Amino acid sequence: MTDESGTYTDVTCCHCGGLGCIYCDRIGKVRVRAPARKCRHCDGIGCIYCGFTGWAGLKGKYD
Ligand SMILES: [Zn+2]
Ligand SMILES: [Zn+2]
Repeated sequence: MTDESGTYTDVTCCHCGGLGCIYCDRIGKVRVRAPARKCRHCDGIGCIYCGFTGWAGLKGKYD
């Protein structure tokens, strides 16, 4: 595997649709590991595995 540990991309938080909520620190976007992928556990709806953002590979809390 190539080193992708530093590759992240900003995506719209699925929980609030970009309006801002506690899960995206009220900015409406979250930083996830690129390429951005919807959470396979909830398919983008939001669950504990994706920190309720709907995205897989969330940067921050789960690093
Ligand atoms: Zn949000
Ligand atoms: Zn999820």
